[in-house]
Amino acid sequence: MLDAATHIAAGGDIVWITLDSLRHDVAVAAHAAGQTPNLAALLGPDGWQRRHSPGSFTLPAHQAFLTGFLPDPPGAFRPPRMFAGSFAGAVGVRPGTFVFEEPSLPGALAARGYRTACFGGVGFFSGRGAFGRIIPDLFGEWYWSPATGPQSSISTAALADTVCAWYADLATDRPVFALINVATTHTPTHLHLPDARRDTVASQAAALAYSDQELGRVLAALRRPTLLVICSDHGDCFGEDGYHGHGVAHPHVWTVPYWEGILP
Ligand SMILES: [Zn+2]
Repeated sequence: MLDAATHIAAGGDIVWITLDSLRHDVAVAAHAAGQTPNLAALLGPDGWQRRHSPGSFTLPAHQAFLTGFLPDPPGAFRPPRMFAGSFAGAVGVRPGTFVFEEPSLPGALAARGYRTACFGGVGFFSGRGAFGRIIPDLFGEWYWSPATGPQSSISTAALADTVCAWYADLATDRPVFALINVATTHTPTHLHLPDARRDTVASQAAALAYSDQELGRVLAALRRPTLLVICSDHGDCFGEDGYHGHGVAHPHVWTVPYWEGILP
């Protein structure tokens, strides 16, 4: 577990990148096949960690994350947590856990001088309708357009343009907390596989490979030090055991790729 409390006390940036719906097995296979060189440069030889998400679709998964419940190692009993909202019965608090009284992590960080922003991604980040604002409303700023949404074939490029422009204009006097939701790996992923008509493991891998090409400049734009988490919010089923999509308790949905580190 990284020492988030010390990092925040020192005013270090925090960035979370959620590769929406990305399955653990797809991420691991793409890493092993060399299809994600920009992510691989960050992940190192150990690659992705295998973790379990607390949510089976975008809204509950991100609500859990943003109250301090990030994906946990499988089988761990009350594993240490980097972030923890304070409440009776809170578990996993260790030296280095950032414990907050506010109802959300962005709110807690804003109260400590952070500029908070979310970028991208799927419909729950769109700002459209009451449910499209639940997550964005937790942040001081949010940036979404159809080009960054899941129906766009250039979603990661548009997202990277937005994030990089934001970083280029960033004043140096405040730390930032940014949540970047990559819609590209969310259905429909067959947009990224020529001649594909439906979403499969192969089309999600193709979507991830495309995303990696654009994520390189996002990673390069981050300031140092940044406490960086990259994970998916949940996985997806492509017909296994008769299940399709997410929002269902299935190993391919609750098992997610995860990486954390502090960029020096
Ligand atoms: Zn999602």
